[in-house]
Amino acid sequence: MVLDRLRWGSGRKDPKKIPDGLWVKCPSCQKSVFKRLVEERLDTCPECGHHFPMTAQRRVEMLIDDGTWKEWDENISSADPLKFVDSQKYPDRISAAQKKTNLKDAVITGSGQIEARNVALGVMDFRFNGGSMGSAVGERLTRMVEVATEEQLPVIIISASGGARMQEGILSLMQMAKVSGALQRHSDARLPFISILTRPTFGGVTASFATLGDLNIAEPKALIGFAGPSVIEQTIKQKLPEGFQTAEFCHEHGQVDLIVPRQDLKMELARILAYLGPKK
Ligand SMILES: [Zn+2]
Repeated sequence: MVLDRLRWGSGRKDPKKIPDGLWVKCPSCQKSVFKRLVEERLDTCPECGHHFPMTAQRRVEMLIDDGTWKEWDENISSADPLKFVDSQKYPDRISAAQKKTNLKDAVITGSGQIEARNVALGVMDFRFNGGSMGSAVGERLTRMVEVATEEQLPVIIISASGGARMQEGILSLMQMAKVSGALQRHSDARLPFISILTRPTFGGVTASFATLGDLNIAEPKALIGFAGPSVIEQTIKQKLPEGFQTAEFCHEHGQVDLIVPRQDLKMELARILAYLGPKK
């Protein structure tokens, strides 16, 4: 077996130790899986289908037809209005995240085609400061929705976020209203908005645009909520039900309309856009 040779052929004594980069351990089935196979399957586990985190750049590649992507407002990045310092200065935190992710902030926005249908797409990236929503994220999303309204484009937003960005305080929270307002005007123009919730979607993002879709779609087993489970248990002094805050639980209780595995997402979006979207 090629895989066995790759795995054990290096003469290492400890078969449990996995060389960096070649294998990843699936947190769901605990198996070690060949990284290339995971990547080929759009960052899902070939054994159990677990959805690994996906970068914003990979999501754009996965959904948008080759050669049709145009990024918008790529130079908008966070200011430091509160001169915020925690364990690190906020601007230092931002430049470290920029270096790590090759992104300007926690969302990228633009336009492109999905199976030859024009869409405006915003994709959040959890690697950037926990996908937190500060003014740069809110501004990029708002501008995207406004241009989409002008150009009569459907909007798709893929969320992956811990919520509002604490380092920008109230300015982060007001992005909830700003993006929601733009989406309302988009909706008034009778244009569709599809929200896609991935692991994790929390806080002010769940409480605003992520749950405002004409269709709210989740990836399997995505964690979706407002506050974390321990905070809720302490507040209501009750034990939470099994599977609380999973995509499946939200689907059962009507908060999510559809659960779509990543491999089917592009096809499913094309089908929905054909049904809801403006005629070509
Ligand atoms: Zn697995």
